[in-house]
Amino acid sequence: MSDFKTLDDLDLANKKVLIRVDVNVPVADGAVTDTTRIERILPTLESVFEKGGQPILLAHFDRPKGKVVPEMSLQIVVPQLAKLSGKHVVFISTDWADVSAAKTEIAAAPTDAIILMENTRFHPGEDTNDAELVARMASLGDVFVNDAFSAAHRAHASTTGVAHALPSCAGRAMQAELEALQAGLGHPDRPLIALVGGAKVSTKMDLLENLISTVDMLVIGGGMANTFLYAQGHDIGGSLCEKDLAETAKRVMANAAGENCEIILPVDVVASKEFKANAENRICGLDDVAPDEMILDAGPESLAQINSAMSRAKTLVWNGPLGAFEIQPFDTGTVLAAMHAANLTEAGKLVSVAGGGDTVSALANAGVKEKFTYVSTAGGAFLEWMEGKELPGVAALSQG
Ligand code: AMP
Repeated sequence: MSDFKTLDDLDLANKKVLIRVDVNVPVADGAVTDTTRIERILPTLESVFEKGGQPILLAHFDRPKGKVVPEMSLQIVVPQLAKLSGKHVVFISTDWADVSAAKTEIAAAPTDAIILMENTRFHPGEDTNDAELVARMASLGDVFVNDAFSAAHRAHASTTGVAHALPSCAGRAMQAELEALQAGLGHPDRPLIALVGGAKVSTKMDLLENLISTVDMLVIGGGMANTFLYAQGHDIGGSLCEKDLAETAKRVMANAAGENCEIILPVDVVASKEFKANAENRICGLDDVAPDEMILDAGPESLAQINSAMSRAKTLVWNGPLGAFEIQPFDTGTVLAAMHAANLTEAGKLVSVAGGGDTVSALANAGVKEKFTYVSTAGGAFLEWMEGKELPGVAALSQG
């Protein structure tokens, strides 16, 4: 991951500061139901005001697909943004095809107000990084700050386009995220262990390939482990499995051996005939799963192995649950592993970095989300980072 500039590197006095933020908040019945994403941008807003700049926020909301969709207006976040920041918020409506009226409104706004621009995705040029849209966006500000790590894997007008057009840097939330990720895979204390779970191997192939050449130990859990167990010749009954990927799974295991990466697969499992809460279930060995049973969680011996591997590690990177964690009691494996990682972290023995939507819910379900060193709420961007890919939104900040 490249070096990047921060708010400490730019002069913001009397500058109009364009800030790309992620305020794509959940909404129900016309009101914001979770303000976490708004809270995350407050440190950046504070720094910009402190340095004498005026923030002009650029953000997307939902998926209007390049058209003006009034129900997807960012106006909806104004009350919470004003409340949480303690500032007056000036909302500027635009379809992004012409920003001359917006410029007049910005010039007339009080300098101690936060300016929030309308949904960048109301214009089709946002997704295509259209040069004319980039020029219009850039004309609104003097410098650019990207504080939206979750959108950094997309080369859009408001993420990379403007970053190349103006002097640019990372905001505080982006900075914290990148520093935590550097500690996870950039220059980790070793041994480094990765825990990858979730439903399907097919969605995490690039991830596994990258991890075997990077980490010392790789735990493969959840539904994806089934494909590996099948490839090893175990009979996994009616479990979720991608049989056509058995050869790929074998290749991953062979490559891992060549890279000195220890692969840790389940040695026992929790099986059930039904995929529903409190379904009857039993712990069984790998060759003991009946044809009408499904593997829904890791067994106690597997857990002991995973936890002992974590105890040997100094750094943990985690994406994906170890079982069908949404339904009890099949969250047990994920909860116990999460609690062990949290205890090691609290004792100062482990740096723990986790990310992805389901993983965040699984850690919250285990009650340990706050105890991890860092939990990234970015889904796609976190996965692409774990896959070792360069994120265009981050790369653009080192060239600005
Ligand atoms: P992902 O989005 O790839 O991280 O997958 C998360 C999903 O995997 C969750 O909805 C889990 O319920 C599901 N999952 C994990 N383990 C299993 C399993 N053994 N069988 C079926 N689904 C699973």
